[in-house]
Amino acid sequence: MSKEKIKAWDGEEFVLVISEDGYCFCPVCGEKSKDKDWRPYDEDGNPSYDICSCGFEFGFDDGGCPPYTKSWESYRKKWLNGEVEIIFGRRLSLAEKIEQLKNLG
Ligand SMILES: [Zn+2]
Repeated sequence: MSKEKIKAWDGEEFVLVISEDGYCFCPVCGEKSKDKDWRPYDEDGNPSYDICSCGFEFGFDDGGCPPYTKSWESYRKKWLNGEVEIIFGRRLSLAEKIEQLKNLG
């Protein structure tokens, strides 16, 4: 596991967790990306506007501008509590969600 530090244009610093084989984990739910080059934000902190399986849209659910980490945390709580309507991917049990979050350390 490695980490990529991003310094967004407003000065917020955050970390993206990268797997041993170079794939980024979703900073909200810990899901491993399917595309090796995928990052939720670029090196300047600009959102990708992609939607993860957890339903989080980078650039929308985070308010579209930094700081992002607070919105990740509040969305993660809703996701864990099953309060988010998941359109993509399959529904995970709470135990599976907690297991997946271990990817984020
Ligand atoms: Zn996610």
